[in-house]
Parts: sequence; structure tokens; C-alpha cells
Amino acid sequence: MSNIKKNGEFILKVNDIFYSIQGESSFAGSPCFFVRLAGCNIRCPYCDTKEALTDINAKSMYIDDIMTEIIKYGENIKLAEITGGEPLMQEGVYELINRFLDLKYTVLVETNGTLSIKNIPDNVVKIMDIKCPSSGFVDCNYYENLNYINKNDELKFIIGNLGDYEFAKNFINANRKIIKTEKIILSAANVAENQFSSHILAEKILSDRLNVKIGLQLHKFLNLK
Ligand code: SF4
Repeated sequence: MSNIKKNGEFILKVNDIFYSIQGESSFAGSPCFFVRLAGCNIRCPYCDTKEALTDINAKSMYIDDIMTEIIKYGENIKLAEITGGEPLMQEGVYELINRFLDLKYTVLVETNGTLSIKNIPDNVVKIMDIKCPSSGFVDCNYYENLNYINKNDELKFIIGNLGDYEFAKNFINANRKIIKTEKIILSAANVAENQFSSHILAEKILSDRLNVKIGLQLHKFLNLK
């Protein structure tokens, strides 16, 4: 999605800006600012941010205005996540990343793994999905991205059923040598009829001696955004 530029400044399509507890990565438990950009290039059945899939209800914002929203919370918290939707769809995202980096924030970018992450700066923590079969978009995984995952980045698999678990396990075992991060997270998909609860997922991880972390969407346990 190309962003309109006005007077040389990008205007981003923003679904939401909020302050909460990071819930889905190795940063889980930390207070964090979130910028949720609008628009996604795929449609996973378990998506829990459906309101961010298009830019129909998005707010058009200059990056200055986004930063003003964040800075009004003060200077104590220096963790920011840019998420979506799929944030890499908007070309202005890189300027937003750089603005946070200039202000010495630790920046997390959460991406669905179907678009190139090559241009994300090395000092940003990339939290990248590998889509499993039940997403319906396993063929959209952009595997070249594994070349740009470094030891500070994180890989995330959303597990909807046993087939997804086996896919993730086989993928991890087959690619261990080229995956440069130890931070691999498996999370049970967030659907009411999920046959694969976090408990079952934990039991499978333990019985298979799979060296990964289980993701629990901590913010939802805390009843936060
Ligand atoms: S990639 Fe993420 S935002 Fe897009 S449809 Fe899937 S779960 Fe939703």
C-alpha cells in the first residue's frame, strides 16, 4: 500500500495507537506502546484484529502526529511495537521505525512473514510469523526472510490443529541450522472451536522435547488490549 506524501512527509493509515502490556513475544510482560497500522494482504481465519484488515476506518496520520501521541505518556517506557494488520504494506513504516530509533526506543516490528523484511534495520527486533497450513496462507510464506532473521529476532507459529503443530515441528527441525535465533514461539490459535488448546500444545512441546517457547497472549489474560 503506497502512502500519500504531503510536503515530503508520509501520511500513514493507522488503525490504533495504544499503551498496554506486551503479550506475545519474549518481551511479554513489559509495558509497551503499540502502533497498529491498517491493512493486511492475507486473511487468516483466526485473526483477532479484523478491524485492522482494511484502511476503511483508519486514521490518516503524519508521523509527527503519531510520535506526539506516544510522547505524551512521558519518557519512562522505551519499548514500542509496530504491528497490524501487516505493517510492511505501508512504505512509510520505515520512517516511523527510524523516528522511534532516533528517540532510543527498542522497536519491535510484528509481521506476518509474507513480505520481505530485508529493509528493516538490524537493530529492530523482528517478530515474524511462519504461517501454518490452517491459516490458509502457508504458500505465502516468504522463506527468503530467514536470511534476514538474526539472533535478536523471533519466529512465531500460530497453531490451529495437530497438522499445524507437525508442520511447525518439522519446519523447525529441518531449518535449525539456518535459523539464527533461539527465540521460537508456538501459540495456540485464538478461535473458540480450537481443538488445539494451549494445554495440549504445551504437552506436545514437552513430549517432543521441542526447544521452543509457548506463547500465551498475556495481555488477554490481563483483560487488556
Ligand atoms: S496476518 Fe495477522 S493481521 Fe493479517 S489476517 Fe493474519 S492474523 Fe490477521
